[in-house]
Amino acid sequence: MCVGGIETLRIFSVFAFLFIFTFQIQAQKIDDIPIKTERLNDKALFIKTGETDAMTNVLAVASKEGLIVMDTGSLPVITQKVKKAIEKEFGRKDYAYLIYTHADFAHNIGGYLFTDAICIGHDNCTPLLKRMYDGYYNPRDPERLKNFMKDREARLKTMEKGSYKEKRSWERVYNMVNSFKTIQSSDFKLILPDITFNDRLTLYFEDMTIHMIHNVDAYSDNDIMMYIPELRLLNIGDVFNKDRLPWLNSRTDIPKWLEIFKEFTDKEDEIDYVIGGHNGLMTMADVRENLAYIKDLYEGIKTAQAEGLSLEETKEKFAFEKFNHLSHVEHKFKMIRRLPGDKESKVVEVNRHERIIEDIWKRLKKK
Ligand SMILES: [Zn+2]
Repeated sequence: MCVGGIETLRIFSVFAFLFIFTFQIQAQKIDDIPIKTERLNDKALFIKTGETDAMTNVLAVASKEGLIVMDTGSLPVITQKVKKAIEKEFGRKDYAYLIYTHADFAHNIGGYLFTDAICIGHDNCTPLLKRMYDGYYNPRDPERLKNFMKDREARLKTMEKGSYKEKRSWERVYNMVNSFKTIQSSDFKLILPDITFNDRLTLYFEDMTIHMIHNVDAYSDNDIMMYIPELRLLNIGDVFNKDRLPWLNSRTDIPKWLEIFKEFTDKEDEIDYVIGGHNGLMTMADVRENLAYIKDLYEGIKTAQAEGLSLEETKEKFAFEKFNHLSHVEHKFKMIRRLPGDKESKVVEVNRHERIIEDIWKRLKKK
């Protein structure tokens, strides 16, 4: 009882803090966040939510046997708009399936607004969603939210008004505040996949086939790609995103990753659009660029190790500046992290390109 009382007090103090925070520097109402829809063909609707890459994408396809929605958008208020747009566009609301590209509240917190649909995700999606809900990533954790807000407030003040960075920072604030409020609300229900799979699962409809294929452990351990040959579409969640470097870790099996994508790259002229988890639409050319970058680094680092170069020498040899074609991609950015044992969140500068080199280096050393 006592713990519950303290918890209530902590949550109350955070709400008071949030009220002051949003009252002081409110620039835009959450309800004003736009969504942009694009009809890709007669049966597919792409929905980009928000104005920046802080928010997430949704793909809806209309099969003869029901609507299939992939991810829900970052905020339930956005999911409501997304649903309206889908229903208006297709003139129906028979949601048959909801597919999670991977476990991340920024992509699927709105799952509880599709209760009629059968939810599908990777085998590892369920335990991760549970961990996010109960543990370290818990948006209900008042201290984490408070630290996040303190940092954002300070950083927002340093940003140029109306700039992309400021808008992105605001959208991250909205994501965090809204996730927090949503999870506190009595309407919220954590929707876990009803059906999970490990390597592959295919849904057969009268007019389309949805092949779901698990990627290797890279962005997460539960990423799935959805290939719909009849609609010439490939949805790859956060595996690759427009104008972002790919994400991987020291467990990533790169040769297997390249092999998995071979079935899509071999079909280049059969795929019109590639949908990522954030930002705009991609093409197979973007996917090829990402794969070539990973392959070049993998092969280069393997050779560097065989030649006896140190990690630092390898980083220098493959400095980001040498990848001219990626100069438009942001490879250094700041993240807010609270590691186990830390009392407060910290702003950490991440050099994504160097991190990729380090991870590939470690993976190759382990072999
Ligand atoms: Zn994402």
